[in-house]
Amino acid sequence: MPGPTIVWFRDDLRLADNPALRAAVDRGEPIIALYVFDEESPGVRPLGGAARWWLHHSLTSLGERLRERGASLVLRRGPADRVVREVVRDAAAGAVFWNRRYGGPERTIDAGLKAALRDDDVEVASFAGSLLFEPWTVTTGAGTHFSVFTPFWRACLALPSPRAPLPEPRELAGIRRVPPSDPLDDWRLLPRDPDWAGGLRETWEPGEPAARRRLRQFVEHDLASYDRARDEPAAGATSLLSPRLRWGEVSPYTVWHEAIEAGNGGRFLSELGWREFAWHTLYRFPDLATKNLRPEFDAFPWPQPLPTHLDAWRHGRTGVPLVDAGMRELWHTGYMHNRVRMVAASFLVKNLLIDWRRGEEWFWDTLVDADGANNAFNWQWVAGSGADAAPYFRIFNPVLQAKRFDPDGHYVRAWAPELLGDDPPEPVVDLGATRQAALDAYEHVKSAARS
Ligand code: FAD
Repeated sequence: MPGPTIVWFRDDLRLADNPALRAAVDRGEPIIALYVFDEESPGVRPLGGAARWWLHHSLTSLGERLRERGASLVLRRGPADRVVREVVRDAAAGAVFWNRRYGGPERTIDAGLKAALRDDDVEVASFAGSLLFEPWTVTTGAGTHFSVFTPFWRACLALPSPRAPLPEPRELAGIRRVPPSDPLDDWRLLPRDPDWAGGLRETWEPGEPAARRRLRQFVEHDLASYDRARDEPAAGATSLLSPRLRWGEVSPYTVWHEAIEAGNGGRFLSELGWREFAWHTLYRFPDLATKNLRPEFDAFPWPQPLPTHLDAWRHGRTGVPLVDAGMRELWHTGYMHNRVRMVAASFLVKNLLIDWRRGEEWFWDTLVDADGANNAFNWQWVAGSGADAAPYFRIFNPVLQAKRFDPDGHYVRAWAPELLGDDPPEPVVDLGATRQAALDAYEHVKSAARS
């Protein structure tokens, strides 16, 4: 059927290396760019506060870039299956193209919509744009999913290499009668009363141009020292690409190829591999954010947590320097260094004995890079209940971790200086005693696994 092509943008807020957009250009009909803010479809998890902030600014940037090239971004709110079909009808569209999503509820929406649109004789096509390897292409010899990273990544690397990135279209043919669009401000994505986003504004510039600049800067200046310095939170040695990958402002294909051209040996690429592993795991286990991947962990006897402990952790007031520094960095910037995420998460689960899901929820609300796979996957990794997880009995000692990775205290001094002063507060719990309590609780898991 002739008629305009709708490009439905989702977690791919970019023009470069966007296969759905490229296919729409090739189709030759006018283009309508659509974004649907969907908090109503069953099972779709509402975005956290920091993510909403990022989305607002990223959509603003995308809208400007589309306009410069001749197309309009249509913003609509509501259940995606209904809204997309309404826009198809309003615009008499002949085709709808999108890049795939991999979460359970999202896949259900997309499959239903695909079938319904096809019944209406509308052309529908979906493309691979957000992962380097499609989840159904990476399986063990027995056809099952991998539960350990190393063989998973080896299997990925044995597949054809990720394709080269597609160029950004210079011009887009828009349509004359653009379907109605919501004013972005109506979605109230930005915090007001209070406006807590000052630290986010100081730290980040959302949008595709800034993402590309960041990537270029990283591969030119920091990639060479990545392997050595990536674990030091004060070194500023990592790419800071996570929110950009989360929102698809830069594609993993672009990151992959630029890193290889800059001569990266593999450590950085394997971090991209962990991102793949997390998403492939979510694809197989859509309930990753709520259910233990290893069911024997259902037997873990979580004690009734003290609300004051959870609150102290959230706000960086546990009296444990590296944990508090990390939690304050998170609150201020919407980001936390990976090493510190591991230590702060371990402290919540294994010293405060608070269910990993409470931590996952807090990170979901406060991280600008919070995504459906990486957050839950990594929480389960730390808790010991996940794929290729840190064994439960290996409990990070936050004091030793600080000595090893922040030996001069630069990171802690930046975020929690009073904890390095002459009269630091006592930690809210005794590290040794709580460690033992965690190990004792773990005995239940072990006996559940045996029985
Ligand atoms: P770099 O070191 O430069 O790595 C490059 C990219 O590889 C990252 O941008 C990211 O996309 C990917 N990556 C790196 N480490 C991991 C990892 N362990 N798992 C999956 N992908 C990885 N990452 C998120 O993107 N979103 C989350 O919600 C998230 N939640 C986390 C929660 C916990 C408890 C922990 C321990 C880790 C979490 N991570 C999450 C993983 C990791 O901490 C961040 O991806 C990383 O700190 C981002 O910084 P960067 O872009 O500078 O990373």
